[in-house]
Amino acid sequence: MLSKRLEDALNEQINAELWSAYLYLSMSIDFEHKGRPGFANWFRVQFQEEQAHALALIDYLHARDARPVLKPIADVPDSWATAKDAFTATLEHERKVTALINSLYATAEEEKDFATRQKLNTFVAEQVEEEETVQQILDDLALVGDDGVGIFQLDRELGARTYVAPNL
Ligand code: MG
Repeated sequence: MLSKRLEDALNEQINAELWSAYLYLSMSIDFEHKGRPGFANWFRVQFQEEQAHALALIDYLHARDARPVLKPIADVPDSWATAKDAFTATLEHERKVTALINSLYATAEEEKDFATRQKLNTFVAEQVEEEETVQQILDDLALVGDDGVGIFQLDRELGARTYVAPNL
């Protein structure tokens, strides 16, 4: 059985994943509104991934006969001046999520809950991927700078991203 402390911590993480989903949906809307459909698509896929993270934790709580609890989702910003700003905010946010996952992992270790620790391994690996992907896009953005053609090409490239359900 899950300890109450771990159950509460996992529920907090569900809220954090849903907040991430909300943040990326907001970015997607902002890009679409500003005529950047490729960036908008990339963030819409990101929105779907974050929902999958939340659902995986909800399923895990059910599997452990614990109770998923949905809490209010805090406000998110609704506008970013440049693509660089949005992806910088994304990298900062993903680093925060990595810290949350690490602290959840530490809690699972303290509670000697080996099943939860195992479950969180996939989340630890997922965070490495998230940060690497966003860092690569920031590197690309730094390379093109203010070049309109470069931004246009990057927008086309990110428009090709399709949602693949993460294996959690
Ligand atoms: Mg996530």
